Amino acid sequence: MIIEKPKRIVKVWIDLGCIPNCGCADTCPAVFKYPDDKDYESNDITSKINGESRIDGITSDNAKEQCELIPEIGIKYYKEIIEAAYGCPVEVIKYTAE
Ligand code: SF4
Repeated sequence: MIIEKPKRIVKVWIDLGCIPNCGCADTCPAVFKYPDDKDYESNDITSKINGESRIDGITSDNAKEQCELIPEIGIKYYKEIIEAAYGCPVEVIKYTAE
């Protein structure tokens, strides 16, 4: 019997140019997060990768850290993350998959 390895998003990040509040966190709220009031106060208006979905627990755009997703999250939300990336109007959601 051949057991197929489940598809997994290994890491996901948001490059410069995000126009916040336009889809990703509606498509996959477990992984993406729109900026909150605190972010706006500090002029950090890029959407984020939820710390709860990441191995390092940090909420940020993950462009610099390149932290991997918790493996179960990367498997569970594989389709939604890809859907969010395709739906991003400025194509700033990047990911690696296996
Ligand atoms: S869909 Fe793209 S541009 Fe829109 S909030 Fe998400 S990352 Fe930013």
